[in-house]
Amino acid sequence: MSKVYLVGAGPGDEGLITVKALDKLKEADIVIYDNLANPDLLKHCKIDVEKIYVGKISKNHTLTQEEINELIVEKAIDKKIIVRLKGGDPYVFGRGGEEGEHLYKNGIDFEVIPGITSAIGGLAYGGVPITHREYASSFHVFTGHLKNEEDDLDWATISKLQGTMVFLMGVGNLERICTSLINNGKDSKTPVAMIYKATTPYQKTVVGTIDSIVEIAKEEKIKAPSLIVVGDVVKARAYLNTFEKKPLFGKKVVVTRARVDSSGLAKKLKALGAETIEIPTIKIKAINNCGLNEEIRDIYQYSHLIFTSKNSVTIFFDTLFKENKDVRALSNLKITAIGSETSRVLKEYGIVPDLMPEDYVGEGVVKALEEILNPSDRILFPRSKNARSFMVEALSKVCYLKEVHIYETVKEDLVDNSLLEDFSDVDCISFTSGSTVDNFVDFIGREHLSQLDGVKVVSIGPVTSERVGSYGLSVYREAAEHNVDGLVKAVLDCFR
Ligand code: SAH
Repeated sequence: MSKVYLVGAGPGDEGLITVKALDKLKEADIVIYDNLANPDLLKHCKIDVEKIYVGKISKNHTLTQEEINELIVEKAIDKKIIVRLKGGDPYVFGRGGEEGEHLYKNGIDFEVIPGITSAIGGLAYGGVPITHREYASSFHVFTGHLKNEEDDLDWATISKLQGTMVFLMGVGNLERICTSLINNGKDSKTPVAMIYKATTPYQKTVVGTIDSIVEIAKEEKIKAPSLIVVGDVVKARAYLNTFEKKPLFGKKVVVTRARVDSSGLAKKLKALGAETIEIPTIKIKAINNCGLNEEIRDIYQYSHLIFTSKNSVTIFFDTLFKENKDVRALSNLKITAIGSETSRVLKEYGIVPDLMPEDYVGEGVVKALEEILNPSDRILFPRSKNARSFMVEALSKVCYLKEVHIYETVKEDLVDNSLLEDFSDVDCISFTSGSTVDNFVDFIGREHLSQLDGVKVVSIGPVTSERVGSYGLSVYREAAEHNVDGLVKAVLDCFR
């Protein structure tokens, strides 16, 4: 038997999905999703998942609710896990209840996984607490989608309510909502906030009163989807508006590094409020028959092991395990890790590095190592084929060093061309190596580089900056520390 999960995706911010919902998304064979569910969540799905978009684009419903109900039933064949992913909570104006009822009537097993509704979570990101001891001790969530006079809300009763009022789907009827409240005795000076695309990088909030918000919303071009919140709780925004005050809020930053590496950078930028666009330009490719197996078989010959990236750590350990060995084989070695990510990944394998040079540039690392190395030492140095030769040359003067090229960075295939078409609203682009610059230029085409006019270019260090310069582009900020944290600081610096 199949099972259908009616799943709440949360209001927009990818992180606002529940653990249970995420688990089901990872297991799903089929995902049927709406336009309010953040499509980025689908990256957690299995590679061969069937994705079906049933979103409603403005008034042109792509599918009617009846058709969606039927589709879910139709798909619920042969032991499939079906996730019906909906924005916010599936039972808050999401018609999830109707879908559940339809499944029940068709004898299909289903379960609901609630989500954070925009009516509460979206407000919170807008700096508006839905209740507050000083301002409101109840809240009421209404649909603002009032099709005709007959199914109009009971405004006389509503206008007497003291609690916070939230209207969903109300942008098109804003004027009617405000007039109805005023005509039924609600104080026209009651504060109102409208929050557009709450919890996303596009979030925009405007504040007014019942008698001014229509004008303000028009001036500020507030469109759907927006939340309308009426009540004194809006006053609390004065001190609860943290999301829109994040340092990179509203900034669009392009990340060009390899997909496996970019997530750390993108995550940090997102946490600071940025919207990130990932255009991976390089990918990591392990080199087969690189000779690492042989060196690992003879690992007892070595006294030192150096890692300069997390990629070399993971490839090294994959090979170690394939050789039927584990960390105990490394017990006689002194291990050096360069970069905080490298140390972090090493710790995941149960190893605390003996040396973690503070200065990440080759020169500083060599200095730190020279202090502990003896001429009788033997270093194994598995690393990227694309790395600079400086460290190998300098350390080889001190003792025996075996360099093994275990991976290389190669150009990524461009998956989504549309990402390169328009940079007019991009604020910043970050480069983490010379090859990210070369490949990006290759993707976009040299003749189109003027598209980057006005985009702030941030580079991880001098070598990368030089490459940027070689294309006639100028670097707006260069990271002082040549690592992810340094790069994030440089991006922050662009907008101070
Ligand atoms: N089930 C959803 C609501 C669906 S009704 C939930 O629990 O949030 C659709 C309406 O919800 C939209 O018209 C809009 O008013 C509101 N909405 C949903 N997500 C929103 C968001 N991120 N920002 C602003 N409004 C949102």
